[in-house]
Amino acid sequence: LSEKLQNLMKKIKGQARITEKDVKEMMREVKLALLEADVNFKVVKEFINTISERAVGSEVLESLTPGQQVVKIVHEELIRLMGSTPAKITFSPAPPTVYMMVGLQGSGKTTTSGKLANLLRKDGKKPLLVACDVYRPAAVKQLQVVGSQLNIPVFEMGTGQDPVDIARKAVEHAKSMQFDVVIIDTAGRLHVDAELMEELKRIKQSVKPHEILLVVDAMTGQDAVNVAGSFNDQLGIDGIILTKLDGDTRGGAALSTKAVTGKPIKFVGMGEKLNDLEPFYPDRMASRILGMGDVLSLIEKAQEAFDEKKALELEKKMRSQQFTLDDFLEQMQQLKKMGPLSQVLSMLPGMDAKALKGIDMDDKQMARTLAIIQSMTPQERANPSILNASRRQRIARGSGTSVTDVNRLLKQFEEVQKMIKALQGKKGSRWMKGLGGFR
Ligand code: GDP
Ligand code: MG
Repeated sequence: LSEKLQNLMKKIKGQARITEKDVKEMMREVKLALLEADVNFKVVKEFINTISERAVGSEVLESLTPGQQVVKIVHEELIRLMGSTPAKITFSPAPPTVYMMVGLQGSGKTTTSGKLANLLRKDGKKPLLVACDVYRPAAVKQLQVVGSQLNIPVFEMGTGQDPVDIARKAVEHAKSMQFDVVIIDTAGRLHVDAELMEELKRIKQSVKPHEILLVVDAMTGQDAVNVAGSFNDQLGIDGIILTKLDGDTRGGAALSTKAVTGKPIKFVGMGEKLNDLEPFYPDRMASRILGMGDVLSLIEKAQEAFDEKKALELEKKMRSQQFTLDDFLEQMQQLKKMGPLSQVLSMLPGMDAKALKGIDMDDKQMARTLAIIQSMTPQERANPSILNASRRQRIARGSGTSVTDVNRLLKQFEEVQKMIKALQGKKGSRWMKGLGGFR
């Protein structure tokens, strides 16, 4: 999130209601963030109008600051725009299911054909790849290489044949050989042109693909929107695959292509390797476009994951300084479900990012922590100050760890206790109610 936006968020903290002026100021920043992320200008304008309406006068949730609330609304609307639930690829009731991959040259059609075949095979399908880019000898060869890497058959008739014939014969072949998925890799051009569209229409006419999937390079930003619009108007598409999202693009193209075509993004390409294809998750993309990691989903998860009653109990305990290693363990386990601990903690106002270093635990560390705490007597858990050297040695032996491990855990526990104390002095108690933890 841009720094300015963050400052604004701080400024309007502590208000009960969001005013029109706050929204206006924040919207300016949101607009910039979206344009920076390559979202189409028209899309941004419409979007900002919707958000402003929703945000002005909306009541602030107890557990959020007003600034966070606006960002939450922006985030929710972004998700809504991109389709609230992930769009799945569909299969024909009468196999083989034929997918036709279309797009500009270099967008990633051939690579993505292979990735898709790979993904569907993991799902138990038997895919056939079809080489219909007959203009460059290298194109057929490229698909063959992809096929042999994956050990997936490739149907080809070399170059110089009519791609419509190839496609038709490939589908016949697939039927007789019991392939249940046919993925047709087509030719692209540098720009959308009439000749290419004609050819694609003829292939479509001939094999009646179950889905036409448009492959779009996310790095092309604004261009992606025009390309998607043209293909959808002229050929009709069923879904979009956005490639090269592993680059540093913010992914604004995702928002724009969906807004312009109304067609869902079904997968995203996350690298050059043939495993690097993932389902498209609107919520992740919304966070990426806003450039704020997964902060909001963490806020939401935090709210869900914590049982209100437990939270109150915990708060009481902390107030009376009885926060024990048992509580620590339980909290660690709860937090672990939400993602990296340092990220969860750093969302909280007044948290010092530096103090959070080294607090993250992977599963192995978590298991070790569990073992160490379980090797302590109840008395030790309630009052770690009695843990002298010989007790620490005994615990290390009992848990199959080392004294260093035990010391490290105790140090972490101390850090957390310190943070709790700091929070207790501040407005933190509101957070503790909302998020129900020492965080
Ligand atoms: P086509 O002309 O549409 O068939 O595109 P290709 O499949 O030949 O891909 C063009 C280039 O983009 C190749 O170098 C691919 O390795 C690369 N590419 C495709 N998808 C991705 C992706 O998701 N991430 C990255 N980093 N590179 C990709
Ligand atoms: Mg190709």
